[in-house]
Amino acid sequence: MGVALVGAGPGDPGLLTVRGAELLAAADVVLYDSLAEESLLDLAPPRAERRFVGKRPGAPMPQDEINALLIAHARAGRRVVRLKGGDPFVFGRGGEEAEALAAAGVAFEVVPGVTSAVAVPAYAGIPVTHRGVSTSFTVVTGHSRHAVDAETNWEALAQAGGTIVVLMGVAHRGEIAKRLMAGGLPPDTPVAAVCWGTRPEQRTARTTLEALGGTELEPPAVIVIGAVAGLDLTWYESRPLFGRRVVVTRAREQASEAAALLREIGADVVELPMIEIAEPADGGAALRDAAGRLGSFDWVVFTSANAVERLFACLRDARALGTARVAAVGTKTAEALARHGVVADLVPPQFVAEALLDAFPAGTGTVLLPRAAVARDVLPDGLRAKGWRVEVVDAYRTVPAQPSGQELERAGGADAVMFSSSSTVTNFLAVAERVPPVVACIGPVTARAAEAAGLRVDVVAEESTVRSLVDGLARRLGG
Ligand code: SAH
Repeated sequence: MGVALVGAGPGDPGLLTVRGAELLAAADVVLYDSLAEESLLDLAPPRAERRFVGKRPGAPMPQDEINALLIAHARAGRRVVRLKGGDPFVFGRGGEEAEALAAAGVAFEVVPGVTSAVAVPAYAGIPVTHRGVSTSFTVVTGHSRHAVDAETNWEALAQAGGTIVVLMGVAHRGEIAKRLMAGGLPPDTPVAAVCWGTRPEQRTARTTLEALGGTELEPPAVIVIGAVAGLDLTWYESRPLFGRRVVVTRAREQASEAAALLREIGADVVELPMIEIAEPADGGAALRDAAGRLGSFDWVVFTSANAVERLFACLRDARALGTARVAAVGTKTAEALARHGVVADLVPPQFVAEALLDAFPAGTGTVLLPRAAVARDVLPDGLRAKGWRVEVVDAYRTVPAQPSGQELERAGGADAVMFSSSSTVTNFLAVAERVPPVVACIGPVTARAAEAAGLRVDVVAEESTVRSLVDGLARRLGG
């Protein structure tokens, strides 16, 4: 209970603290700012209220009102997370919110965040202190005229000799540079201004104190002044897919391995949920019935991780399989089985139905095939041709998901789109305003579906795995 003032970090969602993630996962209400990365809101439970209370052109919420909201929610017994960009106590007015909570007798906790003052230079390859170069750093606001004119002793900072990190300094950068030069900093002092740091849009402008006033900058930016700004240990902006935007189409429930792999190599990923997993038409009755007789089958063949999860949800544990043997098409499917303690007896070398049929023995017993309600008949037909009796059971149904307007707009400007199944192709084309110039497909079946829909397919994964798909796309876009 009470209020947690949580630092969201500078943008990259991976820079949230473990404690911050824990509190978000348990939140009833999340009040967030404009600089708090919005994807972090997904960590809160679906039922949690999410409320934007930051400054947006037009209607900034006055601080008093934010304080009153925090107090009211806490008094109503809700777990409140106040999510603020960077660190809550670094120019985030977190101190004022804590004062208001203390005065109201509301319990609070402060979760420090990774501040942009240090993290944004780091993502530009600039250490704020460096042996033999700078022994201190000062973080200072360049926000108001007032601050620039009177409150801050810029001349003294110029004399201090360490690194100067200016937040909120874009508007008054020329004035700030003049004051520092008047204080004795040489006009050729290195300056690095980093806009939208730790995000895919990050851009670093390298200049000098003298030229800072005339340098194009867009807020939010961190301006680093001093000898360390001359160091260039660039890493983030030089990743293979940095600055390239890729649309990943996926089912909402799927863990997004593709997105994680793409982000690792610097891509700006738009995750477009295309399909949702829903109950089959009979509400799962046939699946439960088959699950009750599971030990009587000779084989159970899984073609997707979803089918594994749906069947196991009907079981107490893996012993229900008895002596039935298990086949899995695809590593993801085999991994899902492994999570339930089952090692698949058969995983074909290629992850398509045809390859499973090649590897499957002939026989006369019964095969259970739990799968999506609408699927190709290649597998059951092929198994029957080998002598098996096949019981096909609808384990789940895929239904189209509707992406948000914002998601679609970002997707519209993408360099590439990745398809992981035929249905993602159909569903994407139903909602997309524009097809990105590069199209990548996880396998030959998906590629044929894309071509049948009139698309030119540029990349087909060598193996039908997400990693192979990402590698193929990286070669294509990076080259
Ligand atoms: N509490 C925040 C700072 C809030 S003041 C923190 O600890 O980081 C807002 C200023 O922070 C912006 O004007 C900008 O100077 C800086 N800032 C925050 N996030 C940034 C980012 N991702 N890239 C560049 N500057 C950022």
